[in-house]
Amino acid sequence: MSFSDKIREQYQDQLRQIQDAGIFKQERFIHSSQAADIEVEFPEGSSLQRVINMCSNNYLGLSSHPDVLKAAHEGLDHRGYGMSSVRFICGTQDIHHELERKVTEFLGTEATILFPSCMDANTGVFEAVLTDQDVMISDRLVHASIIDGIRLAPAQHDTFKHSNMDHLEKKLQLHVDKRFKLVITDGVFSMDGDTAKLAEMADLCEKYDAMLFLDDSHSSGFIGKTGRGTHERCGVMGRVDIITTTFGKALGGASGGCVSGRKEIVELCRQKARPYLFSNTIAPVVVSGVLKVLEILSQSTERRDKLEKNAEFWRRGLTEAGFVLKEGDTPIVPVMLFNAKLSQDISRDLYTEGIYAIGFFFPVVPQGQARIRTQISAGHEQHHLEKALEAFIKVGKKYDILGKTKQEIIAQYGM
Ligand SMILES: *Cc1c(COP(=O)(O)O)cnc(C)c1O
Repeated sequence: MSFSDKIREQYQDQLRQIQDAGIFKQERFIHSSQAADIEVEFPEGSSLQRVINMCSNNYLGLSSHPDVLKAAHEGLDHRGYGMSSVRFICGTQDIHHELERKVTEFLGTEATILFPSCMDANTGVFEAVLTDQDVMISDRLVHASIIDGIRLAPAQHDTFKHSNMDHLEKKLQLHVDKRFKLVITDGVFSMDGDTAKLAEMADLCEKYDAMLFLDDSHSSGFIGKTGRGTHERCGVMGRVDIITTTFGKALGGASGGCVSGRKEIVELCRQKARPYLFSNTIAPVVVSGVLKVLEILSQSTERRDKLEKNAEFWRRGLTEAGFVLKEGDTPIVPVMLFNAKLSQDISRDLYTEGIYAIGFFFPVVPQGQARIRTQISAGHEQHHLEKALEAFIKVGKKYDILGKTKQEIIAQYGM
């Protein structure tokens, strides 16, 4: 027997340790499509509960938009269910090529290559375009998929303190002798909802002859006046050399990602990026859906404008109620609770009140920085936000944290 009792016990032990540490992740089964209102079975086997979703990446409310569904159906009818191939063998349809052109236009770059996911884009791109004579200098809070991509690349790796431009400049000076220097950042940081100082970074990159890499997964479609992303917001369109992003968040929420940017870099990815060469092509149904999403977003800024208003209302409401928030102005609004158990207790009570909002704690966020990360959507109507606010206030009162400072909450509940 290969999977012996001894091996099984070891794994069971390991799982028990995760449970004992109180960090075992339990899935909640959703019985409806993704939306502001969802139907959830939790705990498993319980009756269904309708709740307001306050923690999805469905920023623009397009995940179940009728026009996107219709376009996806048409894609299914005309281009089939799947390609049974990677891109370069027999997996490239006209619509894949069309989507690459449309993403290029939307992001204002030179060229684009699709990947099965943004995780794949991030794990493929660095290895494809850097050598051991190069250096990657990344913000210390970049997304896990970037960290994995960095691990796979032959180039040297260094970091700078989160959004600290003096520190970044020091690192650029330290590595002057390298062939290529690539500065790496997220656009909007997913856990805190803050925005990269992209204009300063672009200036530094110019000064030190470095390239700039931006992962805009939490921005594409809604950050910036016309929703092009962090580079639009920071006024540096055309000055970011590599942008990666996902179609699994605001841009329809299904799956898929891309590398967009300098055409030589994109072409090298087409020749060398392993997730592109060795993983299946994005399904036609998804490609058709994303094409429709880009069409909708290019016609009007209505959805990103509504999202901005919703997020302002939500942030103001929570602030006036006396919660401690992470500062920012994006639709990611973290309600700080500091203590891990408190974040779980409040999340559970909110669920009882019909609000779906997950509590995060170490190791997803740093020790002592437990929080409920709320995320606002253009799919939220005023009544959703008002009801959610009421529930947050009710639960906040129960735990006596309204109007309390960080120090007071920690004094009461511990880190
Ligand atoms: C979600 C996310 C990804 C992963 O995107 P997928 O397309 O789901 O693989 C990558 N980078 C960042 C910053 C993200 O937030």
